[in-house]
Amino acid sequence: MYLLISDEFLAALRVLPGGQGDLWGSRADHGSVVRLVEPTRQEGQESLGRWVRQTGKAEDIGKDLKDVTAGQLILILDGDETRCFVVEPDKTLQPQPFEQVKLYTDYHSRIEGLFDPTRLPEKRVVIVGLGSGGSAIASELVRAGVGHFDLVDFDRLSVPNLARHICGLSDLGRLKVDAVADFLRNASPVAKVKTYDMNVTTDPDRLQEILQGADLVIGATDSEDAKSILNRIAWRLKIPAVYAAAYDLGFGGDVFLAEPPDGACYECFHRSTGDMFSPPDDVTLDYGKTISQPALGLDVRFVSLIAARVALAYLLAGDTTSRLHSYSTNWVLWGNWPQSGWVFNQPLMSDFIQIDPDPVCPVCHPDAYSQAFLGISKEEAAAEVKDLLDSLPSF
Ligand SMILES: [Zn+2]
Repeated sequence: MYLLISDEFLAALRVLPGGQGDLWGSRADHGSVVRLVEPTRQEGQESLGRWVRQTGKAEDIGKDLKDVTAGQLILILDGDETRCFVVEPDKTLQPQPFEQVKLYTDYHSRIEGLFDPTRLPEKRVVIVGLGSGGSAIASELVRAGVGHFDLVDFDRLSVPNLARHICGLSDLGRLKVDAVADFLRNASPVAKVKTYDMNVTTDPDRLQEILQGADLVIGATDSEDAKSILNRIAWRLKIPAVYAAAYDLGFGGDVFLAEPPDGACYECFHRSTGDMFSPPDDVTLDYGKTISQPALGLDVRFVSLIAARVALAYLLAGDTTSRLHSYSTNWVLWGNWPQSGWVFNQPLMSDFIQIDPDPVCPVCHPDAYSQAFLGISKEEAAAEVKDLLDSLPSF
């Protein structure tokens, strides 16, 4: 048996009242791997034996324990010392070696020195759209140390999703938010995840409640209507948003950061990029639309990784120790391969372009928009709409 016990698990047992209790943990590979690592009891764990906090000879302790059966583990906490035993058929205790690990403190040891590790655990990121793109972005953010996630999607994991999604066969038919939530909880011991089975286009009020107080929102939905609603609400709440899109067949993609109150919003971005490039000959170049067309998962993943990096750079802005410097522009273009009518003539190329705010954008400059197109202020326009609605007969 290969037994893992974490410092955090032992520390939790040392302060529990009662002096002894059930030993909760998990087994893998038919019991050849046993883990006692989570300080709080987790779903799916099983009782593996007993723990006892006392001093004295192990043999004596074993005789005192009731209801122990052959094969169970006995963990004895003797001051700072920890001893583990397996119960033999004759109720004697056989010493069981184990490896002591530091699950929480060592989790980020391989990314030490890249940025201040205390900044991300308190950050809350809302991800709208948990398909191949959104799920991969979530996967990177949680491993970097982001602590809180709100996942929003109404779709279920279907067979065509499996070739590109981070989740697999065991999640087939599950809501994507639930499948990804389990993935994130399994990926990090500190991840706190909430899920929302909902369509943002039909429940914008609820989306506004979810976004309140968030540090960042990721727009990875394949619905342009959903992105538009997300933009309006996030901008009103002054929450920055990262929008990621891969193009048909996966030949490229882009990532846009909308940063209120002075940057360009997604509406500005959509308006200004529509005419920027002529479409390639044989594919549809539809900015802002995540692909449902054939594309390799790895080609979509490149765009997701850039989006995760843009998100992390934003979340770490102001951290003088961070090596993930913020990007100088709000739009990153990525090309997986050259395509006629497209900007790159070599594979695996990127470019950085600054999108300026539209001075008459209806979302981020509503007053100027009303004046320019209606000749009246935003308040006057709102009053006219209200008067019009009030004058309509009710049904
Ligand atoms: Zn705008």
